[in-house]
Amino acid sequence: MDEATLRSKSLWLDQLDEPIEFRAPLDGDIDVDVAIAGGGYTGLWTAYSLLKSDPALRVLVIEREAVGFGASGRNGGWCVGEMAGELERAIDLGGRDAGIRMTRAVMDTVDEIGRVVAAEKIGCGFAKGGVIRLARSAPQLERQTEWLKDMRAHGFTDDDVRALDAAEATARVAATGVLGGVHFVHASRIQPAHLVRGLAEVVERLGGVIVEGTAVTELVPATDTNAAVKSRAKALTDRGTVTADVVVRATEAYTRDLSGERRTLVPLYSLMVATEPLPDYVWDEIGLREMETFADDRRMVIYGQRTTDDRIAFGGRGAPYRFGSGIDAATEQAHEVHERIVGTLVELFPALEGVAITHNWGGVLGVPRDWQPSVGIDRTSGLAWAGGYVGEGVAISNLAGRTLADLITGADSDLVSLPWVQHQSRKWEPEPLRWAGINAARSLAAKADAQEAAGKKPSRLTGLVDRLIH
Ligand SMILES: Cc1cc2nc3c(=O)[nH]c(=O)nc-3n(C[C@H](O)[C@H](O)[C@H](O)COP(=O)(O)OP(=O)(O)OC[C@H]3O[C@@H](n4cnc5c(N)ncnc54)[C@H](O)[C@@H]3O)c2cc1C
Repeated sequence: MDEATLRSKSLWLDQLDEPIEFRAPLDGDIDVDVAIAGGGYTGLWTAYSLLKSDPALRVLVIEREAVGFGASGRNGGWCVGEMAGELERAIDLGGRDAGIRMTRAVMDTVDEIGRVVAAEKIGCGFAKGGVIRLARSAPQLERQTEWLKDMRAHGFTDDDVRALDAAEATARVAATGVLGGVHFVHASRIQPAHLVRGLAEVVERLGGVIVEGTAVTELVPATDTNAAVKSRAKALTDRGTVTADVVVRATEAYTRDLSGERRTLVPLYSLMVATEPLPDYVWDEIGLREMETFADDRRMVIYGQRTTDDRIAFGGRGAPYRFGSGIDAATEQAHEVHERIVGTLVELFPALEGVAITHNWGGVLGVPRDWQPSVGIDRTSGLAWAGGYVGEGVAISNLAGRTLADLITGADSDLVSLPWVQHQSRKWEPEPLRWAGINAARSLAAKADAQEAAGKKPSRLTGLVDRLIH
């Protein structure tokens, strides 16, 4: 990986100070206490939490490209206290009380990240303006009303999420066609690459070791030989074998490259664009004065933020799933979906017509078969994992890291009994079934949005989408 290639992966990576320093690869076989495959938020928060709880631990993070190469260096910068599937899924997973506890833990994680970035002096533009989720059609408004009712029924208050009427929502985000919205309080705007690269430096300051340019090819479980000596877990790499008490898989959408993990998580693309820095008179018109992150409530997710240098960075899903869980660098930077995203941005804010788009990029989300993120450890094999966050991993990767550290060190904390711990999603279907299923769900979601935008009732197609993807 060279500097120009890494910079080309996102606006955020392009904004890193020059020159970008690359770390040395692994230099042959090594023995450590904990080996972590993947130098994104998950791997680094795990390393950070382990070293904070026991500074004597020998922790090694193994990164195939460079820290922040994956989604952690490319995302929308919504550090949001939400988990894929939200409250409803958390309750399905562990019952009412555990579901509420999980939801609260996810919300609180945003402040925990705020605390750490302040304490460790990680300058990543952390600004807690919440999310303004606009309702721009009657069905979107209806969905928000139902959701708020549900949140209230489970004890969440105005301090968590608040309904906005059309005037209040527009005062925050002056988009077109706003009928109302919600202000979800637990969210901060961040500069993603500054967070991941800053965190890596802190991990090193605490005594952790990070190697780059080193590909893990297989995670080998410890074996109980029934003899006095038990062989320990291993991460096999192209640069040597790492033996450890615990080996953590933190490779998210790229997990498909590890031996035996082809169908564990599918990579789904999310694509983004960034405008040039916008002048004050445009901001006077658009709003986002509190650095709120924003979206509307369509099914084919969109997301935006006002960047630290006054651009809009804006993204959306909708790029097709590639047969065989393909990942293709060309798709990331030039796809017709980028044009659609720019079209949606201008439809939201007509003042942006003609504004220069300086960056197009994209990256892959890791999606488990039941769309349920999880974290866990198998004590017999010495293998641990975290991920499957779909599009909401910026905040909960921190919760995952803290939880993994407690699981690994054996701490009896509140975190280790949260309902996502030890959850196992089933594997995805072999091809061509997953290609057909995922892309059918994708086009149904787009059709449902189009129907609702045309003023039709909440689309019945969405029941089918839910059945296809869950
Ligand atoms: C365009 C986009 C926008 C998004 N927007 C948001 C958002 O606004 N808010 C939000 O909450 N979430 C968002 N997400 C999701 C979020 O970015 C991810 O959930 C999160 O970054 C996952 O972190 P991670 O460390 O688990 O994975 P990654 O950041 O993908 O890190 C995995 C790392 O492992 C390395 N790796 C992979 N395979 C190997 C191997 N075999 N050996 C060694 N290293 C390996 C990779 O190079 C990579 O650096 C977005 C994602 C994308 C792509």
